[in-house]
Amino acid sequence: MQKIVSNCDFALALNIQIILLVLFRQATNINVEIVNNCLNNVNLMKKVDFLVIGSGIAGLSFALKAAQYGKVLIVTKSNEDESNTKYAQGGVAVVVDESDSFEKHIEDTLIAGDGLCDEKIVEIVVKEGPQRIQEIIDYGINFDKNTSGFFDLAKEGGHSEHRVLHYKDITGYEIESVLLKQIHENKNIEILTHYFCLELITQHHLGVHVDKSSEDINCYGIYAFNTELNDVEKILASVTVMASGGAGHVYSTTTNPVIATGDGMAMVYRAKGKIRNMEFIQFHPTALYNPGEYPSFLISEAVRGFGGVLRRRNGEEFMYEYDKRGSLAPRDIVARAIDAEMKKSGDDFVYLDITMRKKEDILTHFPNIYAKCLSIGIDMTKDFIPVTPAAVSYTHLTLPTNHDMCSCRGWAGD
Ligand SMILES: Cc1cc2nc3c(=O)[nH]c(=O)nc-3n(C[C@H](O)[C@H](O)[C@H](O)COP(=O)(O)OP(=O)(O)OC[C@H]3O[C@@H](n4cnc5c(N)ncnc54)[C@H](O)[C@@H]3O)c2cc1C
Repeated sequence: MQKIVSNCDFALALNIQIILLVLFRQATNINVEIVNNCLNNVNLMKKVDFLVIGSGIAGLSFALKAAQYGKVLIVTKSNEDESNTKYAQGGVAVVVDESDSFEKHIEDTLIAGDGLCDEKIVEIVVKEGPQRIQEIIDYGINFDKNTSGFFDLAKEGGHSEHRVLHYKDITGYEIESVLLKQIHENKNIEILTHYFCLELITQHHLGVHVDKSSEDINCYGIYAFNTELNDVEKILASVTVMASGGAGHVYSTTTNPVIATGDGMAMVYRAKGKIRNMEFIQFHPTALYNPGEYPSFLISEAVRGFGGVLRRRNGEEFMYEYDKRGSLAPRDIVARAIDAEMKKSGDDFVYLDITMRKKEDILTHFPNIYAKCLSIGIDMTKDFIPVTPAAVSYTHLTLPTNHDMCSCRGWAGD
């Protein structure tokens, strides 16, 4: 979903770069001086047709498609499965049920987008949804089914229909594992782990002046830091795809894994590419309140879709005071309401109550969340769950809405 375009603030990008460098050093204990010294005489590591930065759903699904047209190299900064994708819980919204329709899904999305959506993009995403889902089902993903063999569809905030396909409460883990299996079986694809992409190589590195007004920026590949050999390497490619995910870790409370530091946005910005919508960060309303845990553990919205109700510390339900959809209003409305309640009460959390559902149903749908809560002494079939909002990974490195895939030749955003 694309929204009203606004240019990223230079200061923000600089802040991101500084934060990145700090996190870079923290995350990998890399001596930045080595990096700088190396940049001048850099070994040519590889030359490929398609270079993909990132091994989440965006990078892996692109790689499987591109492998039909040439050799693909995926570089990823940590283990191959470490990504936001791996931690995704609730599932993927798509129109598959006969009682549902594209029109309903489009309308729900436009309402949740509060007038900020690009309707053309919403239409494409919604209408192409079933086809994209069929592709990953053909790769081997097992979305849950009910006793009659139909998809067991969940409901999430802002959706007027049950349309969320899921695999228990670990949908992302299922998607990441199945896509990686396909990647390993594909002889046209290689994946390099612990390769930290630092810089997009453009004609700037050949001494040609490039600035924001430059129309024909070419991307030749990347400089990447091989964190195992402590060395910077150069990888050249005809097409480079930035699929490096979001930037949840610029916030102190986030459910994102530590790899989500916004590197791709900073690299594209530094290379004078266009980045948009940087002001849009989504706060998920219900991260588990567990002081000292970082990143936070998410309590999926599907728990509210399963009947979960948000309550004050005294047990009072409060969301209908904010929205007629109650605890299943869109996330931004629910997160703001919880923030308002916490500011009014001075509490650090509110409660999520799912005790009205049968224990076996809760364990069938949310085994991972149940186990996590139990590990800190909360039995969600009997107790209320303390929750608080947290940043999630939905920052979009969106591209010009003329469906032209890039602001310079040679690379595409995720
Ligand atoms: C806890 C949680 C629950 C979620 N639940 C849902 C859900 O139910 N439904 C839903 O639709 N979405 C959900 N999301 C959001 C969803 O996971 C993301 O939107 C999606 O996975 C993003 O995919 P991606 O491939 O763009 O990025 P990611 O999956 O984050 O992959 C990015 C990849 O880039 C790599 N990378 C980053 N920087 C560099 C660098 N400098 N060099 C090399 N590699 C780099 C990372 O290591 C990673 O492999 C959830 C997110 C979280 C955190």
